[in-house]
Amino acid sequence: MSETTTPGTPDVHDILGIGFGPANLALAIALEERDSPLTARFLEARPSPEWQPGMLLDGSDIQNHPSRDLVTLRNPRSRYSFLNYLHEQGRLLRHLNLPSEFPLRKEYAGYIRWAAGFFSHLVDCDQRADRVRITEVAGESLYEVTTVSGRRYLGRTLVMGPGRTPYVPAPYDTVRSRRVFHLTQYLPRLTELTGGTGEGREPESVAVIGGSQSAVELALDLSRRFPRTRVTTYTRSHSLRLKDTSPFSEEGYFPEFTDYYFRASREGKRALDAYMHPTNYSSADGDVLRELYLTMYEQELDGDQRVFVRGNHEAVRVAETGDGRIALDFLERHTGETITDTVDFAVLATGFRNMGPGPDEELCPPLMASLADRFATEPDGRLEVDADYALRPVADGTPPLFLNGLCESSHGIGDAGSFSLLSLRAATLADALAGRLASAPGRTAPTRTDRAAALAAA
Ligand SMILES: Cc1cc2nc3c(=O)[nH]c(=O)nc-3n(C[C@H](O)[C@H](O)[C@H](O)COP(=O)(O)OP(=O)(O)OC[C@H]3O[C@@H](n4cnc5c(N)ncnc54)[C@H](O)[C@@H]3O)c2cc1C
Repeated sequence: MSETTTPGTPDVHDILGIGFGPANLALAIALEERDSPLTARFLEARPSPEWQPGMLLDGSDIQNHPSRDLVTLRNPRSRYSFLNYLHEQGRLLRHLNLPSEFPLRKEYAGYIRWAAGFFSHLVDCDQRADRVRITEVAGESLYEVTTVSGRRYLGRTLVMGPGRTPYVPAPYDTVRSRRVFHLTQYLPRLTELTGGTGEGREPESVAVIGGSQSAVELALDLSRRFPRTRVTTYTRSHSLRLKDTSPFSEEGYFPEFTDYYFRASREGKRALDAYMHPTNYSSADGDVLRELYLTMYEQELDGDQRVFVRGNHEAVRVAETGDGRIALDFLERHTGETITDTVDFAVLATGFRNMGPGPDEELCPPLMASLADRFATEPDGRLEVDADYALRPVADGTPPLFLNGLCESSHGIGDAGSFSLLSLRAATLADALAGRLASAPGRTAPTRTDRAAALAAA
């Protein structure tokens, strides 16, 4: 049931977006570039839009072709391209001269910050959406989003772009300690626990959990920051695996694959997921694997090994020790042997949740849990998503709701939480929003003059 809004009704936006990461930023750009008359407001939890700030590690590079950016596949002439960013920063030629295949993640984060800066008039920062409900205003069904700070926002449509939920598996989810944390918290938590580079608080021993690109980057970063620290990477799989970068497999990041995947049965999707998995998950690029291997070998030569990788190890118990450190009990999955490692902290490179019924999944994004029964679900309980990223309402008076960046289980790996197809998805969303809003009852299109005035006032 929808509820009725009380006096002091805020403005009604055609599009209300939750999150202003790359996904909703790409949408804002697509709307501007097609001169859309739709009004939009985006809520961002952070003090300013940033791209994965907890993992901006020295030397780490991006995992996508840099031109698969916020705009280029949709509009190669856009001013919001990565190349134009470099040009406007006066760094284009020097960047093209870099002896590396991919840009530094720091530079790409600067690009996202730069592009987001052009849209600050559409974004309210420091506004973490806390509650979403449906309300009625003057006979029109609207989304009402209340933020942690108590502000209320109304939208004719809702676009959820909060990024995927970090996955913290058992038994790590049983311990309430600031010394066990997901990689999205890495840099701030490191500063809190060690001052960032030790500053007299150099840890004795730390653990990285997982076998992904991020896990390898974290092991390298920790070993560089804290040369005396014992850094152990624990992974359930046999060891650290090379990412599948075959150009044939990479076609899984083409829009044709998205269409193909979308039409496949759930069983077919599972088979495609199994094939595509090593292109992005539980695997790492050759450069970081080589660097880690060489580091370990040289330390061994010097008789002073401090960096280790332990495959086939699965944590069975995590507990805080009396002195505030963390005791991790691991089971060797094939020999049955158990070991305990006591560490200063453990970083979880354990990934993110997709939509689904599995133990590492969630049936719907947590923020919309109270609305979930308004939408159709697949037989296994996950939300049914249309090709244009809209959910299918089953209850009357449910305004359009779109998911942006959360649809790996319906659209496949290429069209989920990565840059690969972000700009094309933004075009699909912009079309779909325009289509749904064309007949919205309470909507009067703002004129060009209204929009110019709003921009000037921002
Ligand atoms: C360490 C790391 C490195 C990566 N590197 C790459 C790469 O090189 N190439 C690539 O293609 N992909 C990479 N990815 C995948 C990454 O998910 C995408 O690049 C991109 O960040 C997805 O954008 P998004 O907008 O969907 O999500 P996010 O970037 O997570 O943005 C979501 C935004 O929503 C905000 N938010 C969340 N909840 C709320 C709320 N309740 N209210 C208001 N705001 C909220 C967040 O603060 C955030 O700003 C990487 C991911 C990680 C974790």
